[in-house]
Amino acid sequence: MDAFTYSTHAVRVIFGYGSLSRVGEEVARLGCTRVLVLSTPGHRGHAERVAYVLGSSAKAVFDRAIMHVPIDTARAATAEARRTDADGIVAIGGGSTTGLAKAVALELALPIIAIPTTYAGSEATPIYGLTEGGLKRTGRDPAVLPKTIVYDPSLTLELPHLLGFASAMNAIAHAAEGLYAADRNPVTNLLAVEGMRAIASAIPRMTVHPADRDARSDCLYGAWLCGTVLGSVGMALHHKLCHAIGGRFGLPHAETHSCLLPHTLAYNASCATAAMAMIARAIERPSAPSGLHDLARENGATLALRDIGLREDQIDAAVELALANPYPNPRPLERAALRSLLINAWAGERPVD
Ligand code: NAD
Repeated sequence: MDAFTYSTHAVRVIFGYGSLSRVGEEVARLGCTRVLVLSTPGHRGHAERVAYVLGSSAKAVFDRAIMHVPIDTARAATAEARRTDADGIVAIGGGSTTGLAKAVALELALPIIAIPTTYAGSEATPIYGLTEGGLKRTGRDPAVLPKTIVYDPSLTLELPHLLGFASAMNAIAHAAEGLYAADRNPVTNLLAVEGMRAIASAIPRMTVHPADRDARSDCLYGAWLCGTVLGSVGMALHHKLCHAIGGRFGLPHAETHSCLLPHTLAYNASCATAAMAMIARAIERPSAPSGLHDLARENGATLALRDIGLREDQIDAAVELALANPYPNPRPLERAALRSLLINAWAGERPVD
């Protein structure tokens, strides 16, 4: 066994169908009596349901969460928390809503109770992001890590198939890059492999029966494990590329992960053979890059960056973005190979193993 360092994050997790009804006890457990409930505009209904469950402990609903946490939205939510003298935040939604809660927590040091409705995994990380002047700045701060996560798989039953699949691939990406992270350790490896296994086995069952309760539950469980990996170790080329081109060209977050993952893994495959073998075993395919491409294709996912808004004439700029700020990666960053990666992902080709 090689030497390693592993820090655990203290998070309380309530998992299972019907967990939403336990939000009140969890808010009380944290000693909160005046919480602000956050959601996106489209899911205000969810937030109002939470406020109803909380009764007098819910002081207000703020339903303006949007992708990538624009600074103005963060300021507006923080002002609402101040106005209502909030002593806690309940965020119900995907990564955008959790991200908004983190922005408020960063400013006011309020505890967060996260109720995730996608597989993005932000609820399990101390990572925050804020967008100002078109640039997304990210950082890590223990203050933004939710104190409690309430996973109720019934909230994911209405996730549209394509979005749900892309979000599941976003989760698999956290685990996949965790397996070749410079600071990986035996515990994060276990979490990553089990997380990918749970998700890869759930996806085909959800395709056949979108309301398959066990499959939905398995996928959410896997998303938690994969998110925990993201929160514990450093990410590499795949996440940096998604972040850079998603932000610059306004591409949808989960779908960008889904289109790029087979190709970023193909890029790194020769320099991360042990990780690739673990991924292949976890998803029960002969190879990690083509196996994930096949999983995506078989389940009707979007495969090509050109189908989610990247123009061919933007590929060269995307290559420059990938090269811009050096970061640890198993394989050195090479301009010509990165260009091939992006051309293949743009066209949605099956990666060559
Ligand atoms: P999202 O939260 O923007 O949700 C995508 C869309 O799905 C929204 O329109 C939302 O209303 C809808 N939606 C959410 N749950 C639904 C449900 N159950 N049923 C039907 N529709 C639903 O997207 P996301 O992919 O969850 O999160 C992406 C954001 O999270 C990005 O900004 C990304 O950078 C961030 N993120 C951060 C971390 C972190 O650790 N900080 C980790 C992962 C993602």
